[in-house]
Amino acid sequence: MSSKQIHEMGVAELATTIADGKTSSVEAVQALLARAKQHQSLGAYLAFNEDLTLAQAKAADARVATGERGPLLGVPLAHKDIFVTQGFPTTAGSKMLAGYQSPFDATVVANLAQAGAVTLGKLNCDEFAMGSGNDNSAYAPVHNPWDTARVPGGSSGGSAAAVAARLVPAATGTDTGGSIRQPASFTGITGIKPTYGRCSRYGMVAFASSLDQAGPMARSAADCATLLTAMAGPDIDRDSTSLDHPAEDYTRLLGQPREGASAAQPLKGLRIGLPKEFFGEGCAPDVLTAVRAALAEYEKLGATLVDISLPRTELSIPVYYIIAPAEASSNLSRFDGVKFGHRAAKFDDLTDMYKKSRSEGFGPEAQRRIMIGTYVLSHGYYDAYYLKAQQIRRLIAQDFQSAFTQCDVIAGPVAPTVAWKIGEKSDDPVANYLADIYTLSTSLAGLPGMSVPAGFGAAHMPVGLQLVGNYFKEGELLQTAHAFQQATDWHERAPAL
Ligand code: GLN
Repeated sequence: MSSKQIHEMGVAELATTIADGKTSSVEAVQALLARAKQHQSLGAYLAFNEDLTLAQAKAADARVATGERGPLLGVPLAHKDIFVTQGFPTTAGSKMLAGYQSPFDATVVANLAQAGAVTLGKLNCDEFAMGSGNDNSAYAPVHNPWDTARVPGGSSGGSAAAVAARLVPAATGTDTGGSIRQPASFTGITGIKPTYGRCSRYGMVAFASSLDQAGPMARSAADCATLLTAMAGPDIDRDSTSLDHPAEDYTRLLGQPREGASAAQPLKGLRIGLPKEFFGEGCAPDVLTAVRAALAEYEKLGATLVDISLPRTELSIPVYYIIAPAEASSNLSRFDGVKFGHRAAKFDDLTDMYKKSRSEGFGPEAQRRIMIGTYVLSHGYYDAYYLKAQQIRRLIAQDFQSAFTQCDVIAGPVAPTVAWKIGEKSDDPVANYLADIYTLSTSLAGLPGMSVPAGFGAAHMPVGLQLVGNYFKEGELLQTAHAFQQATDWHERAPAL
């Protein structure tokens, strides 16, 4: 055993420690399962299957014993409960899927397992990934480990809280309108949402199909790069929106200076665009202070800051909150109490069975979105809402393309404030929606985006810096984030637990 405790190690360190025989995958999962149980009150985990986890760890140790090496071999990870997993229940944070057991693994889960990662458990999330505070889970709210009275962000709040609290070195998340980036920002961890279509959606319980994208959440950009390399890749036979773009090694640029730059100023030549709409009065001053300090650090690394504009940023809220519910209303129609999902115990006829099952199974936010979505898709309103939203969505994507003629990466805050108190926005859906202002447009455009720990704001809560790149620029984004993490230690700060 190394002198560092298992839970203190990130992915790379734990993989090396296992490869060197200083610990085993079995020892690692035992330590992390014990720690997860000790901190169950955070609400991060929804399910464990210790026998299966131990069997996977033993299998990984056997692979190590034969001399096999790999950056994830034997490393325990946990999955957002939106990914279907064999052997663990999958609920999507909803009562509708309570106790549901999938007969297969999501592609992302299978890809990580093939790389030798071990599944520690399933992580809490907002119901069907709808939310910004992880207070929409049908099971329990998740608590932010930096201040348990506050939300961890959503909808991948369980993933964020587990990684931040050092219950697991890394986790999967999904981002439809910010659900990887915003919880990463709220809990001081690193997360990346790749280009739409980069990770297979096969086996991801669908929320809004044209937006949903999987990605890793970990302590560092380097660990995210390792996970994403295993997770991403074409899956065109099983996901029609999977991109037929060859798999990539996302770690290849880490620690490399940019072309023509030096080790002292590794980011020389990098133009970072600052959208004026992200730095206005809508953003809390404490968040802006941390973001500006991070940008000053980037200048030291050789980057130049350029002012840009994303003029339709404000419109991203109504556009997203039309398109996402429209797609959700269609995706959630499969939960009818017939094939799978909750079925009401008593009903009069088929229609009554549908009604009762869906009223009982879906929580308030899912029901709200089904109603909004059905409305905007209905005859007579389709052109006024849905079609208009799709047209503006295209313009939002074009705004990014013109911005990328002036810069290589776009930076700004992830969210306008630090994590709020649990309950503070629970009765006000619009207040939740408005908090997504800086993440939605990236999702609508299908671009890759990430959150990098950049310091602390009000109440000593973490603040993330958002970095957005052009399509397929995940490697450059991770390189840009990694350079910052070589120069700062915000990503190494952990909450006292
Ligand atoms: N907060 C946004 C919503 O509620 C985004 C959620 C997500 O990215 N899954 O829809």
